[in-house]
Amino acid sequence: MRLQIDLIRARLRAPFVSASGSLRTRDLLLVALEGDDGVIGFGEAAPLQGYDGVALRDVRTALEDCRSVLAGSDGADDRADLLAVCARTAILPHAIAALDLALWDLAGRRSGQPVWQLLGALDPDPVEVNATIARTDRAGAAREAARARAAGFRCLKVKVGLGDDAGRVAAVRAAAGPEMAIRLDANGAWSVPEAVAALGALAPAGIECCEEPVHGLEEIARVAAEAPVAVAIDESSAGALHRRVCDSVCLKVVRCGGISGLLDAARRACAVGYEVYLASTLDGPLGIAAALHAAAVIRPDRPCGLATLGLLDREDPLPPREGRLSVPAGPGLGAGLLAWYGA
Ligand SMILES: [Mg+2]
Repeated sequence: MRLQIDLIRARLRAPFVSASGSLRTRDLLLVALEGDDGVIGFGEAAPLQGYDGVALRDVRTALEDCRSVLAGSDGADDRADLLAVCARTAILPHAIAALDLALWDLAGRRSGQPVWQLLGALDPDPVEVNATIARTDRAGAAREAARARAAGFRCLKVKVGLGDDAGRVAAVRAAAGPEMAIRLDANGAWSVPEAVAALGALAPAGIECCEEPVHGLEEIARVAAEAPVAVAIDESSAGALHRRVCDSVCLKVVRCGGISGLLDAARRACAVGYEVYLASTLDGPLGIAAALHAAAVIRPDRPCGLATLGLLDREDPLPPREGRLSVPAGPGLGAGLLAWYGA
């Protein structure tokens, strides 16, 4: 297979602010694998340096390191073996995820089947997703919450650890109404005592759960034991799946090394008693589509953080309807996704 890598730079509609920093543009790598039969499978690499510490150029280098391995394969029968060889060569899960997506897409395009079908799922239901409140001021956050409620979302995600959390969360609750699930995400901004105190103060607003209140397994376990709010693990989930340290785990295509790794991680997480949901790392449509296909098998326990394409200043090929995302139709990862990349 021939490997092609293209840099894609998408602007955000507004700066995306979390405890990990502020982001104005989203750089991705569009990866194409072309077989000798002329069929092309597409994937993407979506590292987010401020969040996971991995630079785009390192992912590109890792992909380049796999070029000769890929050239010796047609990607047909040996997908798992090929990925295993690439994983030993490339190390970074972001690069493996891009190749995994492209190989699933290629297999689907060759067979005329959507990836969910290749994964053995039955006809998939739309996936419940949360809306993300991007604004950090009370009035702006309240307006976004009211819009999300009117659009049919049943779960909102609010970044915390940013100052004025109590005021913003109260404004969101007031605008969203009593039925809305409100999920917090601190991106590890707090210490254990800070997290316990902050969640104690925020709990009366009615909180579904708090993602990554602190970093580290032991630290998250302590918060989960002491705070009056359910706790989910996100950034610290690598190495956390052999034992349950909190209520839920948030899994991501990029961090798990693609669809194959995501399914494996979800199986392990369920086996030790976690509730599982999926999220993007401001992925492009191929990454979102990959998670949706995987969700057809995983059947997430909670709303997923996959409605993030609307944060990017390009036409969304997978728009949420009534708080749900449909699994894309068409062969492979889905038809109509590539226009977003300008490809
Ligand atoms: Mg998170």
